[in-house]
Amino acid sequence: MLFTADRIHDGKGWLPENTIIETDDNGTILSVYQSENREGVTVLEGLLAPGFVNVHCHLELSHMKGVVPKHTGLIGFLKQIPALRNSFSDEQKRTARKAAYEELYVNGTVAVGDIANTSDALDVRALGKMHIHTFTEALGFNPAPERMYGYAQQAFEAYNGQEGNGKMLRQSMVPHAPYSVSQPFFSLIDQHQPESIISIHNQECCAENEFYISKDGMVRDLLSGMGIDDSFFVPSGKTSLQTYLEWISPTHPVIFIHNTFTTKEDIDTARRLMPQTFWCLCPNANLYIENTLPDVPLFIKEGLNICVGTDSLASNHQLSILSELTTLKKNFSELDWEILLTWATLNGARALQMQHVIGSIEVGKQPGLVQIRGLGSDVPTIKRII
Ligand SMILES: [Zn+2]
Repeated sequence: MLFTADRIHDGKGWLPENTIIETDDNGTILSVYQSENREGVTVLEGLLAPGFVNVHCHLELSHMKGVVPKHTGLIGFLKQIPALRNSFSDEQKRTARKAAYEELYVNGTVAVGDIANTSDALDVRALGKMHIHTFTEALGFNPAPERMYGYAQQAFEAYNGQEGNGKMLRQSMVPHAPYSVSQPFFSLIDQHQPESIISIHNQECCAENEFYISKDGMVRDLLSGMGIDDSFFVPSGKTSLQTYLEWISPTHPVIFIHNTFTTKEDIDTARRLMPQTFWCLCPNANLYIENTLPDVPLFIKEGLNICVGTDSLASNHQLSILSELTTLKKNFSELDWEILLTWATLNGARALQMQHVIGSIEVGKQPGLVQIRGLGSDVPTIKRII
């Protein structure tokens, strides 16, 4: 099959005019070449790009769409999640998960970094339309985390034991966030698999840094509200990131999620301690929960590897990477679409270590192809071509 469009982005940048993409029936790229000959070529309006990679989602929370009000702040949000997430039947959860999975697919997603506290998402993972790296998430702000580690191991083993289905299905155990995982628990997770990809909700609210610097603020309210005794915790006088990165071996690639309150000093620390880092932006969720955005111009100036996620439907109105890009462009007009599309495609694939198959239009890869119309408008549309 042969395709061309008004503009083509190959995951790295714009291709010259009159570029033709040749694929086989399975979507494998056979050749990319320039020609003005349109015979047998499907000519698409708008632009053509590789399929998107959503680096941060929680399919298992899909039933919570619209349940938590906007702008509660992260601590207010987290206080509501535990009770609300279980006030639905298994059937309601299952139906919502499947609908969310289809929504991701229709919105041009070819791979997902999916957070799991439970084995609920095994069913959608088995559907085999997208590649999935499941981050089985450990939670426990406890100086003796062995029991909680056992739960995390159980979830990991459930995903690890799932049969392949033609797509890449992978998993690694990860810490939820700096305020919900104790130092001994970080060490156990670190040792679980020495080179596994770690993703962590990082500096999503300023209270997280406050807790690590001085053991003050709203994180303490959250912990005491959950009946957690934090007397073992000694503040480091440094931000969360500058503290917990000392507890993770540099053999792990790390994906920092959110980064709403990350500073230059934090970035310098990450650069010093961790050779492989990715910084995932989830702007719609940030606006939903905290109504604030990370310092994206700083991240660009620092040359960070930026990628994009939607977070869950508990804190987003849709699961659409294109919508996340549109929000970024609206709030940081200096960003150009060339770089935004790279974040959503090749950088996401690199973050999930899937760049040998997806993320860019290159011979031998199977990146998927999406057609985007109305880019730059408030509601651009997307259609999967392959
Ligand atoms: Zn999240």
